[in-house]
Amino acid sequence: MTTPSNKKPGDPHFETAAVRIQTERSPQREHSTPLYLTSSFVFEDAEQARAMFADEIPGSIYTRFSNPSIDEFVAKIAALEGAEDGVAFASGMAAVFAGFAAYLSKGDHVVSSRAVFGSTHQILTRILSRFGVEHSYVDLRDLDQWRSAVRKNTKMLYLETPSNPGLEIADLEALGKLAEEKGLLLNVDNCFATPYLQRPVKFGAHLVMHSATKFIDGQGRAIGGVIVGNANIISDLRFFARHTGPSLSPFNAWIFSKSLETLALRMDRHCENAMAVAQHLERTAGVERVMYPFLSSHPDHLLAKKQMSAGGGIVSFVVQGGLERARRLIDCVEMLSHTANLGDSRTIITHPASTTHSKLTEDERSAVGILPGLLRISVGLEHSFDIIRVLDEAVQKSGE
Ligand SMILES: *Cc1c(COP(=O)(O)O)cnc(C)c1O
Repeated sequence: MTTPSNKKPGDPHFETAAVRIQTERSPQREHSTPLYLTSSFVFEDAEQARAMFADEIPGSIYTRFSNPSIDEFVAKIAALEGAEDGVAFASGMAAVFAGFAAYLSKGDHVVSSRAVFGSTHQILTRILSRFGVEHSYVDLRDLDQWRSAVRKNTKMLYLETPSNPGLEIADLEALGKLAEEKGLLLNVDNCFATPYLQRPVKFGAHLVMHSATKFIDGQGRAIGGVIVGNANIISDLRFFARHTGPSLSPFNAWIFSKSLETLALRMDRHCENAMAVAQHLERTAGVERVMYPFLSSHPDHLLAKKQMSAGGGIVSFVVQGGLERARRLIDCVEMLSHTANLGDSRTIITHPASTTHSKLTEDERSAVGILPGLLRISVGLEHSFDIIRVLDEAVQKSGE
């Protein structure tokens, strides 16, 4: 379905690259991706060891910084994002932290969208601040705010689009231009869209981050993260990761590598089901508002259609009756999983105000549109009729 815009004639399509990129085949001639569960690799002789440590020849040395299972996952995701290189991490948050720490020093400043993942907010406000890295929050959608927040010491623009859980859209092209004009790094968390729906590199992003835990695994099995970008930029990140050690386990890398083979198929169904759920909720009595980027009622649906090929697997909605009803709805909904994850084959329902975003103050929550009655659904791969039926019943029952 999708073709990356930087695809040249004869380059493999997204689906083909996701299935066929294979960086290593052992002398056993295995067909599927092998798993290299080893902490280190033997050298053939003293000269090979010297040359590998001197980066004169490629080759795995020690799994903290190189392993064929991890390299294959990174090569695949970098190709799918239209980037040259990348580094994998033990979690999405290890990737987020490294994406800041590898590039920012005392006295530097980050402009970030206000609606960032809860732990990213903690890193900016409570951890980086201790090391003298400053930040300003801006409204994701307001280009004037982004521009006027840039100072002399600003080094990086950071954002998530679509945002969590408000599903607001940032204008990637405009922010890519702003980054270029001011000489800043544009760092994008592309977790909600995946490279199948949106490739920020083509709009000028220098760093593209994923929690691989979400749609990339897609089956709720493993925690991991990755950042991709151009080779000259990724080299600083590789240095940081090699010496600080937030490495991904080869086993999880192998899971993610295999998962990428089905990413396109899964995302097509996630998006189709999410659109059906969003359209249905819009017609449901007791539902005040539905947020989904590809609904024509979404304030930025034209922008979403410009930079994404479908709306993604996440739908948020606000029930009439606020906090009490939202919590009643969670307690009476059948089948759906009530868990703190997203991007799974199983549909998940979450009440952000009392869980994922409970560390924010009431004011901080309302500034990013997290109303007390807001529920987030990560729409899974069940039949959409069944998802809609259980949601319908729960909306009705919670209002009685
Ligand atoms: C889950 C998530 C993260 C953090 O990833 P982990 O793998 O849980 O550490 C970061 N950003 C977004 C948008 C996420 O959904």
